[in-house]
Amino acid sequence: MSELPYSYEAPVSQALFDRAAAVTPGGVNSPVRAFRAVGGTPRFMVSGTGPYLTDADGREYVDLVCSWGPMILGHSRPEVVAAVQDAVSRGTSFGTPGEGEVALAEEMVGRIEPLEQVRLVSSGTEATMSAIRLARGFTRRTKVIKFAGCYHGHVDSLLAAAGSGVATFALPDTPGVTGAQAGDTIVLPYNDLEAVHEAFHRHPGEIACVITEASPGNMGVVPPQPGFNQGLKDACSKNGALFISDEVMTGFRTSRAGWFGIDGVRPDLMTFGKVMGGGFPAAAFGGRADVMAHLAPAGPVYQAGTLSGNPVATAAGLAQLRLLDDAAYDKVDAVSEAVRSLVTEALTKEGVAHRMQNASNMFSVFFTDREVRDYEDAKKQGSFRYTAFFHSMLAQGVYLPPSSFESWFVSTAHDEQAVQRIADALPAAARAAAEATAA
Ligand code: PLP
Repeated sequence: MSELPYSYEAPVSQALFDRAAAVTPGGVNSPVRAFRAVGGTPRFMVSGTGPYLTDADGREYVDLVCSWGPMILGHSRPEVVAAVQDAVSRGTSFGTPGEGEVALAEEMVGRIEPLEQVRLVSSGTEATMSAIRLARGFTRRTKVIKFAGCYHGHVDSLLAAAGSGVATFALPDTPGVTGAQAGDTIVLPYNDLEAVHEAFHRHPGEIACVITEASPGNMGVVPPQPGFNQGLKDACSKNGALFISDEVMTGFRTSRAGWFGIDGVRPDLMTFGKVMGGGFPAAAFGGRADVMAHLAPAGPVYQAGTLSGNPVATAAGLAQLRLLDDAAYDKVDAVSEAVRSLVTEALTKEGVAHRMQNASNMFSVFFTDREVRDYEDAKKQGSFRYTAFFHSMLAQGVYLPPSSFESWFVSTAHDEQAVQRIADALPAAARAAAEATAA
């Protein structure tokens, strides 16, 4: 590592991690942050500006995680910060309705045609949990189809063959989820419509909904094959089930109307989070008005939240969405394409077998020579190469997702200088990936 500009040590982060481990399980508040998949010291960040993060040791990184998606305008975008400051100056939570919630809902509904009504919540997990409950309440059925490798938050019934942190840790399941909770979940291979038809055939009148990531990013980026989402929608319509498209990650990121803006498949219900919160805890679920009418207080399906529609979170989300015009998406798409080609070029030069997969501007690299179409394919990648690649990039000041099962994210703030820093770091990282050996 002598040729690298930074010492690999991160003593202040390490000291903070040690302190954290004494009071927080594993030292983190969300498992993937602990770096267990790649090893080493998680970097404790103290500030973010544009495309850069600065850690507690004073080192700067080009950020290719963007808080796992939300920071599509980069960090501390002045207009978003100003909207937050303005909201905070008027109070931080009222527990009453407020105009900000209405404006955010109107902005979302205005962008996505099948989204007739939305209910705001505070996390993507809450959004998918509530959407599933509503689908069960609406259809009066119990079973749910999900796909292996798709992550929908840590909802009990959906923590079966989930991607993301669960994929990272290779947990087949998690203690604490009962057989009854998981028993009504049917887990099928992703991109396999035959398996979906067979499941409907085996469970006539029992399946409440099919939930899928609109385009999965939690087993790495594995886009739907042409016709897959439409096939799911058609199978649901034919069998009296609801089609739930989880756009927590893709929503307002992959286009101004999220993945719906790309494939045009009309879900019955959709879930959102990340970008729509502008870096604050705001999320939502919504869709067909006749289905949403079953939600309390309009209907019998209960759902609520003390901080739902929080005025500061909604102000941040609204400010961010209003800045996300066509030019902004063109910029994010162009940065994504530039970074993708740089990574491919560097790995090819070193003869490293890899697949660069993308869904619009979301992307990830798999160290394998075959197309990755489902979770089984994703698990066959040579993750040991990613570990070497990740640490080389980190040591050179580029912050990648600390797991090979995650999407990379860029922002409008990734300018030429930031992209150049990535380009400068890539040759050594590609070499490290080439030289890596399986443990
Ligand atoms: N759904 C998808 C597709 C996600 O990617 C995530 C989180 O990464 C969630 C749901 C859960 O969202 P949250 O972490 O806000 O609970």
